[in-house]
Amino acid sequence: MRKEIVIYDKNKESLEFLSNFFKDNDNYSAIFIKDEKALQKEIKKNPAAIVVGTPDDLERIKPSEMGCPVIVMVSGDITNGIRSVIKCDIECYLISPFHKEDFEHKLRIAIKKKNWFENIYREKKDLETIVELVHLVSSTLDPKEVLYFVVKKIADIIDVTRCSIISIPIEEQRHAYVISTYEDPKITNIKLDLKKYPEIRKALSTKSTVIIEDALKDPLLEEVRSVIAPLGIRSIVVVPVIFRNEVIGTLFLRTSRAGHTFTQREIRLCNAIANASTNTLYNAFLYEKLATEKTKLEKFAITDYLTGTYNIRYFYHRLEEEFSRSQRYKTPLSCIMFDIDYFKKINDTYGHRIGDMVLREFAQCVKKHTRKSDVFARYGGEEFIVLLTQTFKEGATAEAERLRQIIKGQRFKSLKNKKGITVSIGISYYPNKKIKTQDDLITFADNALFNAKNSGRDQIRVWS
Ligand code: GH3
Ligand code: MG
Ligand code: MG
Repeated sequence: MRKEIVIYDKNKESLEFLSNFFKDNDNYSAIFIKDEKALQKEIKKNPAAIVVGTPDDLERIKPSEMGCPVIVMVSGDITNGIRSVIKCDIECYLISPFHKEDFEHKLRIAIKKKNWFENIYREKKDLETIVELVHLVSSTLDPKEVLYFVVKKIADIIDVTRCSIISIPIEEQRHAYVISTYEDPKITNIKLDLKKYPEIRKALSTKSTVIIEDALKDPLLEEVRSVIAPLGIRSIVVVPVIFRNEVIGTLFLRTSRAGHTFTQREIRLCNAIANASTNTLYNAFLYEKLATEKTKLEKFAITDYLTGTYNIRYFYHRLEEEFSRSQRYKTPLSCIMFDIDYFKKINDTYGHRIGDMVLREFAQCVKKHTRKSDVFARYGGEEFIVLLTQTFKEGATAEAERLRQIIKGQRFKSLKNKKGITVSIGISYYPNKKIKTQDDLITFADNALFNAKNSGRDQIRVWS
C-alpha cells in the first residue's frame, strides 16, 4: 500500500519538483492541497507525512501539533526560509536546488522515525499499565474489584469485543468459570462446558498462549464452528494464568475485527498482565470459590434435606422477624399448618422409600403454588407449615382451601395407580387478642389442625 503524503506548497520551483517526484511513484501517493481548510481535513485522515513550502505556508500551520512528520521545502528567499524553519523548530528540511535522492531519503527517515517513536510511546503506555496494575492488584482488597480491574485495563488498551477472566478449578476437568467480564461488571461465576471451548482446553494442556487468527478457518475450532460463526468472533487469544506450574485460569480475549488478528505487542502485554497478576488472581479465584461454598453452605443450613423446602430452623427465624414486624406496624400475619392424612398407611403399603418420594412431590407441589413472599417449611415428619405475610384470616383461609384442593387433585408419580392424598389443615392469624408471642401463632395453628383431624380429616379449621 502506498503511503499518503499531503503537499501544502505554493512555490513554483518546489511544486514542480514534487509533482515530478510523486508522478508514478510506487511507494507514495501525493495529495496537493491549496487552502488551509482542505489541509485541516486531510490532516484528520492521518497522512504519513506533510510537505510544506516556506515561509508563508509554514507559518500558517503548527508543525508541533501535527500527528505526522513535517518536511519543509525551502526555495526562493533561502535566508528567510531557513529563518522560518528555525522559528518553527522543524527538524527535516531541504534547500533548493532539490535532489530526488535527498528528498526520498529524508521522507523515508522521517516516517520511520515517527513509527519508531509511536512504538516507544506504546511500549511506555504498556509498561505504565502493568505498573499501575501491579500497584492496584496489590493494594485492592476486594477480589471482585481486582478481577474487573484486570479485564477493564486490557479492554482499555486492546481493541477487543469480549474480554474475560476464566477460572479453572484444578479438581474439575470439564468445567471452567467466567469470573469477570469486561462487557458486564456484574457477571461472576458463569459455568462453561469446556467441551465447547477447544481453544481453552488447548491452553490448559499446552500451558501456553493459544492464538486463533481466524475463528472461521482454524482447524482447532472445527467442532464448534457452527456456534462461533453467528457470534461474529474472528480472532481469539487465550493466555494461561499459571500458578505453581498449574494453569489456574486464563485471560480470554475475542475480537470481531475481520482480517486483523491480535498483534504481537498485544499478546506480549496480555502475557505480562497474566504474569504480573498471577498471585492476586490466585487469591481472587480462591476467594470466589470460598464465597460460592459459603453460599452453598448457607443454603444447606436452612434447607430440609429430604424435601428441599426451608427447614424448621429457618422458619422460626423468619417467624420471629415477621411477628415483630406485624406487632410494630400492625400488619396481618397468618399461619397454615398441614398434616398429611393417613400417611402411615402410605409407608405401610409402599414402603418408607416411596413415602419419602411422596413427601418430596408433596413439598414441590405446595411450593409451586405458594407466593414467593410466603415462608413454606417442613415442620417435621409429614407436617408442613406456611407463614403468610400481610395476610388476614380470610385470605389465609382461601389460600388453604385452594391448596387443599390442589393437593387432593394432584396425582403422585411415586404412588401406584396414581392414587391421591389428602391433608388436614389448621389456621391461626394475627392480630388476635389471644396471641401474645410468635409461639402462640404456631400452637393455635396446631390446635386448629387437631380439630380438623378430629372432624374427619381432609378439612380446614381456623382457630377461634
Ligand atoms: P393422620 O395424620 O391422618 O392421623 O395419620 P398419619 O398416619 O399421617 O399419622 P401419624 O402422625 O401418626 O403418622 C405419621 C407418619 O409419617 C409416621 C411416620 O412413619 C411417617 N413419617 C414421618 N416422617 C417421615 C419421613 O421422613 N419419611 C417417611 N417415609 N415417612 C415419615
Ligand atoms: Mg403427623
Ligand atoms: Mg398425618
